[in-house]
Amino acid sequence: MKGHTAIITGSGRGIGKAIGEALAGRGVNIVVVDVNLDMAEETASGLEKYGVRSVGLKADVSSQNEVSEIFEHAVKEFGKVEILINNAGITRDGLLMRMKEDDWDAVIDINLKGTFLCSKEAVKIMAKQRYGRIINISSVVAFMGNPGQANYSASKAGIIGLTKTVAREYASRGITVNAVAPGFIETAMTAALSENVKQEMMKAIPIGRFGSVADVANAVVFFASPESGYISGQVIHVNGGMYM
Ligand code: NAP
Repeated sequence: MKGHTAIITGSGRGIGKAIGEALAGRGVNIVVVDVNLDMAEETASGLEKYGVRSVGLKADVSSQNEVSEIFEHAVKEFGKVEILINNAGITRDGLLMRMKEDDWDAVIDINLKGTFLCSKEAVKIMAKQRYGRIINISSVVAFMGNPGQANYSASKAGIIGLTKTVAREYASRGITVNAVAPGFIETAMTAALSENVKQEMMKAIPIGRFGSVADVANAVVFFASPESGYISGQVIHVNGGMYM
């Protein structure tokens, strides 16, 4: 992977940031993409300690224009893009009866349409290179469902279908497309949950602890490596055995 370039969406913090650290630690140049420019730039400059080149860019992954600009910028700066991690994601929870159309649209737009838009730009570059690794971050709730997350679970299940289709379309061009489905990972996204909810969730995790951002990053690194080249359209579940 040394010398490769990775674009990681939503990587100013959380799981995306940890993926950036894990890849940079293996010599990969990183394009940190986030809606928050300050956070993207700060994260990017923090990666320089690994001796790689890194740049922080602001973009909303649900905007076609902003996504195109990131890829243009990345190619200008690094000349190529071998790895795309579709990690940007949000939640807007609520029971179905109370879920507003805006909450549905925002989650589908960022989580699912964002993955579509970034993948479309990436395959243009990767198909010419005859090499690429696309890794989509789904969720355990795509497989189990979760009360209060109709929008989120639908977006994450949609990502699985998208992963398999793009994997089939681009396999002959040397591009693999896979997904990682995290369970309960300790980040800002899950910090907001009440202690009661957390204790209930813990009971369902055989390994007996919540996941760390590094647990997810390790699975992503495997899919991002040249060594995973005979694996496409697959999902690695990183959930402590919560779903088997
Ligand atoms: P997080 O801490 O909230 O980080 C998500 C990052 O994405 C934030 O930096 C956020 O920026 C950015 N972002 C939000 N909307 C964006 C947009 N439209 N365009 C570009 N960037 C955007 O979340 P996380 O826990 O690290 O989650 C990362 C991914 O893992 C998500 O796809 C999430 O669904 C998935 N996941 C997480 C868990 C978990 O337990 N944490 C479990 C399963 C799956 P702002 O902070 O400025 O909004």
